[in-house]
Amino acid sequence: MEKYLYYQDQYLWEFKADIVKVVEKEGEYHLVLNQTAFYPEGGGQPADRGFIQEIPVKDVYKLEERVYHILSELPSRQKDLNCRIDWVRRFDHMQQHLGQHILSAVFYDQYKAGTIGFHLGSDRVTIDLDRPLKPAEIIKAENRANEIVFANHGVEFFYVEHAQLKRLAPRKMPEITGPIRIVQISEIDTIPCSGTHPSRTGEVGLIKVISWSKYKQGLRVEFLCGKRVLDDFRGKNNCLNSLSALLSVEVSEVAGEVQKVIERNKSLAQQIKFCNGQLLTLQAEDLLNKPYSRHNGIKVIKKILTGQDYQQLRLLTLKLTANPGVVTLLGVLDDATARFIISRSSELTSLKMNEIAQELLPVIAGRGGGTQQLAQGGGPGVEQLGKLIELAYQRVLAILLSI
Ligand SMILES: [Zn+2]
Repeated sequence: MEKYLYYQDQYLWEFKADIVKVVEKEGEYHLVLNQTAFYPEGGGQPADRGFIQEIPVKDVYKLEERVYHILSELPSRQKDLNCRIDWVRRFDHMQQHLGQHILSAVFYDQYKAGTIGFHLGSDRVTIDLDRPLKPAEIIKAENRANEIVFANHGVEFFYVEHAQLKRLAPRKMPEITGPIRIVQISEIDTIPCSGTHPSRTGEVGLIKVISWSKYKQGLRVEFLCGKRVLDDFRGKNNCLNSLSALLSVEVSEVAGEVQKVIERNKSLAQQIKFCNGQLLTLQAEDLLNKPYSRHNGIKVIKKILTGQDYQQLRLLTLKLTANPGVVTLLGVLDDATARFIISRSSELTSLKMNEIAQELLPVIAGRGGGTQQLAQGGGPGVEQLGKLIELAYQRVLAILLSI
């Protein structure tokens, strides 16, 4: 049976080992070693990564009391292999894991809130509590958790038989039988756990609750420990400093200033909407006064608009054709797309705008449709928009002259 070096020395990251078994599965090799410091997944803690003879260890898992290391190629020899754990990743897991013990212990001690779930991801760490808490209670627990870190308590690891457990009064009873591994933080917490942890609370570094949300009947608390707090603080600090520079205010005034910018934007958007309405009214009056052509009292308005968008094109069309005796043939270039709307007043029923549009769509390689009164379309042929509007005009003219 191999030796679990990760329990003998949780800080061991380099060791020698011999291969005792190889299982080939789907082009990969699952190696069992005579001893290993590679921690397999367990107790909410992800498996280690690293190298065996410079070959990357892709995953580590435990099956029937044996630890398997997955490699994509076999080492060149069987004995005396150089094994190295990705220590930055492992120590990060140890910091998050002991941080979780501390935080869970405090939530239980202060509010009898039990931990019913723990997830340690590459960027998120969460615990699920079995009852809700108020924000002030969470802050109080966070303060107490960091006091425990700063006091730098020792952490003990030992095995007990199931029968001895009750005497220890652990925070949670295990579901397994046989010898049970206990992780004990001074007088503060006693809990069965199979993971790897630092041997003093000070090594956890800061514990920072990032956010919380309702989860089932309780609460999901997201937090960070150790180096992750530094990375998070650095990112947020850079972000706040950039905002402070952009807004030309102190960091403490950023939130208030952003609120003002949002209010200002809302007010400007309303002003723009009002001005656009006025502009469209004036534009409509101008186009009605000076149509492109007139035929038996029918005004034909033909124009390609610049500096306006499709929405404005639509509003202008509706404004113009609300008057009797008006045909509009309008186009606009919107985000490198040629768009057009052809329409007419409701009484000019001899003009079927959807049929005219269908005939002309190939000119701009476009798609579209509509009703007999109003049809629209768009396509990539921006160079051909003028030609399309002109062809539409010719079709309309031919129909108007034949009435
Ligand atoms: Zn643990």
